[in-house]
Amino acid sequence: MGLFSRSNKSSKLASGHHTSGNDTSDLIINSISDGVVLLDSTGNIRVVNPGASTITGWRSKDAFGLNYLSVVKLVDDKDVEAKDSANPIAETLKTCQPKNTDALFLLTKSNRRINVDVSVSPVSNNENRGAIVVFRDITLRKQNEEEKSNFISTASHEMRTPVAIIEGYLGMLLNSQLATIDDRAKNYVEKAHENSQHLGNLFQDLLDITQLDDNRMEQHPSPINAIDFLRGVAEDLQPKAKEKNLQLVFAMGNYSSAVVMPTYHIMADKDHLLEILENVIDNAIKYTDNGSVDVSVDGDVSKVRFVVKDSGVGIAPEDVSHLFQKFYRVNNDDTREVGGTGLGLYLVKKMAESMDGRVWLESEPKKGSTFYIEFPRISDAQVNLYNNQDKVLKVQNPLQQVEPEEETEAQTEKTPETDSVSDSEVEPTEEPTAGPETEQEAPVEQEPAEEPSAEQSSVEQPPQAPTEEQNDIANQAQA
Ligand code: ADP
Repeated sequence: MGLFSRSNKSSKLASGHHTSGNDTSDLIINSISDGVVLLDSTGNIRVVNPGASTITGWRSKDAFGLNYLSVVKLVDDKDVEAKDSANPIAETLKTCQPKNTDALFLLTKSNRRINVDVSVSPVSNNENRGAIVVFRDITLRKQNEEEKSNFISTASHEMRTPVAIIEGYLGMLLNSQLATIDDRAKNYVEKAHENSQHLGNLFQDLLDITQLDDNRMEQHPSPINAIDFLRGVAEDLQPKAKEKNLQLVFAMGNYSSAVVMPTYHIMADKDHLLEILENVIDNAIKYTDNGSVDVSVDGDVSKVRFVVKDSGVGIAPEDVSHLFQKFYRVNNDDTREVGGTGLGLYLVKKMAESMDGRVWLESEPKKGSTFYIEFPRISDAQVNLYNNQDKVLKVQNPLQQVEPEEETEAQTEKTPETDSVSDSEVEPTEEPTAGPETEQEAPVEQEPAEEPSAEQSSVEQPPQAPTEEQNDIANQAQA
């Protein structure tokens, strides 16, 4: 007799007792504290173990024979029932493919909402078709994760500010117009300055990660011309490549001067895209000792792909699958001496995915790596539509009417460098007033004359307005 043809009477598992033909498997299923529910091909419940009863609040004998939708009620964070492709059980029954998620909640019989991790496996043999659903109450785990993430977020936020002030003071100390120090002291201060920048970046990465993990990262998408944008990023990173005697080549694929270059537009948040590309190109430079880093854009009707290819140390196949994990760093003779946090690629992947993109790589140890970052392509018509809406919104919003019209038209063609000063133009609904974020990030006054280096300019400015004390130092030094 097939498993699904057991009646409620004969299915002692379903009624919570010891059971059927196979004592050992019943004993195992009865003893598992996770919920285990067996469904037939129509989604009706054929077996319920005691663990499932404890989690759902449904007695086994009451649940037996009901459709899973009444017992394993999966909802999203807004209590909306997970349907069709959003419901892993429905998907497995439909596609016969295993599904897993920890992003849904289960509504118990008494309408209590709990976080669950659900794994659904297809059951398919000559006699039976259906699915086995295994679920676990992970409410406590989610609470712990949330507390941990809140702690990291608050701690990084609080520590970023003093570190930025330290960095600002050290920067002033290194400025010959503001302070005089001997060469030995300069060497020490340079090291301290470098490390305070590193610490500031680390806090910023941690802050970004907690925001991305909790889906709190704000997105301000606008159309971006991928080729111009990449060209700008590559220009900014040229000094870094030069420091290592590497060629950073902006190589535009197969397009010769005789061929008209297509325009590749994507819809993305400029700051996030900048962070993604900077991270990947910066890594390519960091992990390459000789040769070159080639960056380019290609695509097709529906996709735009940034390609970053280096002739560096490469990555072993066993490391590739871990590369996008938090804090993962390859530990071998080629990489040990290179500084880093292991957070960059995790951020890159998360950020790209938050903008409907994806990231992958090809690599060969000792030969080099190629990273691909792909986004959906938007058409020129969509870009025009966005720009026209932008104009309409500007007319409606008098705060933005002061912007000259020509600048608006040209905005999608600018490089990121120029774009970074015109964010308020691009974001039609954003008021140009200083919100809490902007307030935090007002730069410390550093030096009146010296040009910031490329490295300095790529690092976020200290998030604190100049204090009286700092102004005094600057004034005294100038006097
Ligand atoms: P890190 O701060 O350590 O650079 P990432 O998350 O950016 O952290 O990268 C994770 C690891 O992946 C690095 O420690 C390095 O070993 C490896 N890696 C990243 N990019 C490259 C590259 N272009 N070539 C070789 N190894 C790389």
